[in-house]
Order: sequence, then structure tokens, then C-alpha cells
Amino acid sequence: MIFTDYKVIGKEEGFKALEYYIIFNELCTGCGMCQAICPENAIDYDEYPYLKDKCTKCGYCLEACPRTNIDRKELEKKIFGEYANDLLGSYKKVFAMKTNVKGQDGGAVTYILKRLLEEKFIDAAIVTFHKNQKAYPEIVSDPNRLLLSSGTKYTMSNSLKLLKDSLKYKNVAIVALPCQVEAIRKFQYEKVGDIDLTRSIRLIIGLFCKSNFLHSLFTDLIAEKYSINLESIEKVDIKGKYLYIYLKEDKKYKIPLKEILQYKRYGCNYCIDFTARMADISIGSIGSKEGFSTVIVRTDMGLSAIERILNDKDVEISDNIDFDSIHKLAKTKFTESMKEIKRKIIENLPFYLKQYGDLL
Ligand SMILES: Cc1cc2nc3c(=O)[nH]c(=O)nc-3n(C[C@H](O)[C@H](O)[C@H](O)COP(=O)(O)OP(=O)(O)OC[C@H]3O[C@@H](n4cnc5c(N)ncnc54)[C@H](O)[C@@H]3O)c2cc1C
Ligand code: SF4
Ligand code: SF4
Ligand code: SF4
Repeated sequence: MIFTDYKVIGKEEGFKALEYYIIFNELCTGCGMCQAICPENAIDYDEYPYLKDKCTKCGYCLEACPRTNIDRKELEKKIFGEYANDLLGSYKKVFAMKTNVKGQDGGAVTYILKRLLEEKFIDAAIVTFHKNQKAYPEIVSDPNRLLLSSGTKYTMSNSLKLLKDSLKYKNVAIVALPCQVEAIRKFQYEKVGDIDLTRSIRLIIGLFCKSNFLHSLFTDLIAEKYSINLESIEKVDIKGKYLYIYLKEDKKYKIPLKEILQYKRYGCNYCIDFTARMADISIGSIGSKEGFSTVIVRTDMGLSAIERILNDKDVEISDNIDFDSIHKLAKTKFTESMKEIKRKIIENLPFYLKQYGDLL
């Protein structure tokens, strides 16, 4: 297949083009956008998308995929009115937040969503649950169910597939990784056909993300090599050079990151965004003290959401932020990924790499 234009190729080859250029080419992030956009509901997912039904070759899946073409600078200008030449992106406010929710860090994500449901700012949220550490997304409107979604799952949740279902609601928040935030913004500003998937999305909460992993990390390494019963895991965390596994029975395992790198998702090697630059609010661990979440508020919508809860008695806010550590990790991710992207240029993937032209 000789490359001409991804929109043309998508219509000629249908899902095969998505496989050829993105999935088999190690670029797929697992975001779920192709599943949401497929008018035939022909795409299913198990770590990666696959065809389960007849493809009518509309080409939408390749067109909407965030790994084909995305003009980051233009998109940021449209969202923020400027492109911020800073690894943290554009922002209005940065602070550390601790809440009464038992979360991964300060429980900020879950607390914010719970309060926004109570305030009727949103009527549902797309969040992520897991079964034995295999992540899966769900739309939740019950605050008690929402509380069960807290905590980081280090496997991919194809959350964007639920954009279709989100249209049943009026105002929806989505918790998304940087690659998924990029896919949503690309869709919002570069329409595909006359399909509408994002009219109900009112708030995008992006998570910081250095990399994500295949579920075989848990089945092959954690369960098999370390003989850990996956059902007994209370929390998984990556801090510094280690993966920590906390068991319900108050026992902890500390596994060097070099042991888990072989389970890293391929697509993460080509990802340059650490802080979810295009989200309304970005939240992560690094940059604030143990037990706090780092919160970056970027848009007016993000500000309007956060202002409703800042004075709550169950919230502790601190301006003690270590910007250097956030910058350092963002820079490491950018530099490592750019190295891999340059290798791909040598392999000649013009439409994917066009997006990096003026960043290289
Ligand atoms: C794969 C991954 C890698 C990360 N890497 C870093 C990192 O390198 N440095 C850093 O500072 N922070 C990283 N984070 C963010 C960090 O782990 C916390 O999620 C963040 O600090 C929010 O904590 P919290 O207590 O406020 O959230 P909580 O209140 O615990 O809520 C967590 C929210 O994240 C959602 N979520 C969990 N897993 C996923 C998933 N796989 N995909 C989409 N949504 C999910 C849940 O649905 C929930 O809404 C990463 C998160 C993920 C999912
Ligand atoms: S990156 Fe997203 S849209 Fe592209 S193939 Fe993978 S899951 Fe589908
Ligand atoms: S969106 Fe669905 S029908 Fe259209 S090309 Fe892709 S798989 Fe085929
Ligand atoms: S590293 Fe990038 S591609 Fe991988 S899960 Fe995180 S945001 Fe997505």
C-alpha cells in the first residue's frame, strides 16, 4: 500500500488502513476513539482495537485516530488563544489538593467529580474501573458508584468508546490520559463527517502520564513471577524508579521499573505530552507532597468547575508546588519520545510525523 493521503487511504482500505498504519505499526494508544466513531459499531477492543463486524470503508476510524494527523500548536491556539512554549502548557492556576476521598494521591479527581455531580454542574462522568488490574471505562451518575472508581490503574482504559453513550446525558465530565485528551480535542476542532460525539462533554480532566502498560504486566510478572494474587491488591503506584504493589493485608512489594519496561505499551514510546496540555484541568502526583494531588487549571471551564469546591471544609489547598520536578519529568518524556519519533521518520511515516514537524 503506497501512502497518498490518510483520508483517501481510509476510504479505500477501511479498517485495514487503521491496522496497517497505526495498530500494527506500534502507534496505537488504545484510546477508544475509533470504536466510538465507527458508524457500524464494527470495532471491538482487547488491548488494541480489532474488527468484529463488517467494515463499510467509510474511513472515519483512520481520520479520527489521534495518531494520524494532529496539529498540536493550532489546537492549543484554538483552545487557549495561544501556544505556550512551556512543557506544562497553558494554565491559569496550579495548586496542591488533599481531600477526604481515599484516592491515588489526594483523591482530587474523585472529589471534584463527586461535588460537580452534587452541584449538578455535570450529570455523569466517564471514569475507569478495573478487574484484576485490567482497566475498563464506565459512565457513572451515582456519587457512591463514583467513589469506587478512585485509584490509578496502570493498564489502558478505552474510555473514548463511551463518547457515543455520553450523548444520552446533558453535561458529562471525562477523566482521560493525555493521548485521549488529544483525541477529544482533535475531534472537537476537526470534525469527522457530520458525526457528533462530544456535544455533552463539559469538562475534560486529564491525568499526568509517563507511560502505561499491557495487562500481561500483571498476569505474567506480578501474578506469575511474584506469586501475587491479583485480587489481593489494594493499590498500585509508580514512584521514582519503582513499581509498588500494596496488598489488602498490609504487605508491600517494591519492583524495579527496569523489570516492568518490557510490558510498556508500544504507543507510549511516541507520546510527547506528560501533563495533558489540552485538558480543562490536569491532575497528577508529581510536584506536590505525599497525600496531595497536583492540580493545573487551564481553561475558564476548568476554573468555573474548581471554584465551586475550593472553599469546601473537606478540601485542603496548598501552593507548595515543586515546578522543577514536573518540568523535569515532562522534559524526560518529551526527549525520550522524540528519539523514538525520529527513528520512525527514518521508517518514513509521513502523515503521522507531519504533526511533529516544527517541534523537532
Ligand atoms: C496510566 C497512568 C500513568 C500515570 N503516570 C503518572 C506519572 O508518571 N506521574 C504523575 O505525577 N502522575 C501520573 N498519573 C496520575 C496519578 O497516578 C493519579 O491518577 C493522579 O495524581 C490523580 O490522583 P487522585 O488521587 O487525585 O485521583 P483519584 O481520586 O484516585 O482518581 C483517579 C481517577 O483516575 C481515573 N483512572 C484511573 N486509571 C485510569 C486509566 N488507566 N485511564 C484513565 N483514567 C484512569 C479513575 O477513573 C479516577 O477517576 C498516572 C495515571 C495513570 C492512569
Ligand atoms: S490510537 Fe485510538 S483511535 Fe487510533 S487505533 Fe488506537 S484506539 Fe483507535
Ligand atoms: S469506522 Fe468502521 S466502517 Fe468505517 S472504515 Fe473504520 S471500521 Fe470500517
Ligand atoms: S504515555 Fe501517552 S500514549 Fe501512553 S497512555 Fe500515557 S498518554 Fe497515552
